[in-house]
Amino acid sequence: MVEYSFLLDELKRILKEKQLKFTRQREQVLKALYHNEGHFSPEEIHRLIQAESPELKVGIATVYRTLALLEEEGLAESISFGKAGKRYEIGMKKHHDHLICTRCGKIIEFVDEVIEERQEAVGERFEFTITDHTMKILGICKECRETMNIQEHS
Ligand SMILES: [Zn+2]
Ligand SMILES: [Zn+2]
Repeated sequence: MVEYSFLLDELKRILKEKQLKFTRQREQVLKALYHNEGHFSPEEIHRLIQAESPELKVGIATVYRTLALLEEEGLAESISFGKAGKRYEIGMKKHHDHLICTRCGKIIEFVDEVIEERQEAVGERFEFTITDHTMKILGICKECRETMNIQEHS
């Protein structure tokens, strides 16, 4: 995992480049992503910031715009949930893929060496240099399956 200070310097550099001001509000978005394990909607990030720094007035629009900027610059990554919108996580994490429960929205991270190797092989077959990939496996998580079973049997 990269150091927070590295990401912070990157954010400062990017804002300067775009002639935007470095503000504590913008920094809090990066900080919330960095210090919380998981994948969050902009609304959840907004709540995390409010809980951590109630004295800071951070509008939801600032959260949306900052997340978009962070993603554009690789400091954040998102998983799209169609109509339900995007969930964000900090960028530059070690590579991993995602299992997504379509019922409760739970996201499980995994790495499977065989899948990684197979993708390399597919790249080679098409003389294609793979630089990145995202894999989203959709389904129903263990807990949801259990509650579904209970409902069926009652
Ligand atoms: Zn579930
Ligand atoms: Zn993830």
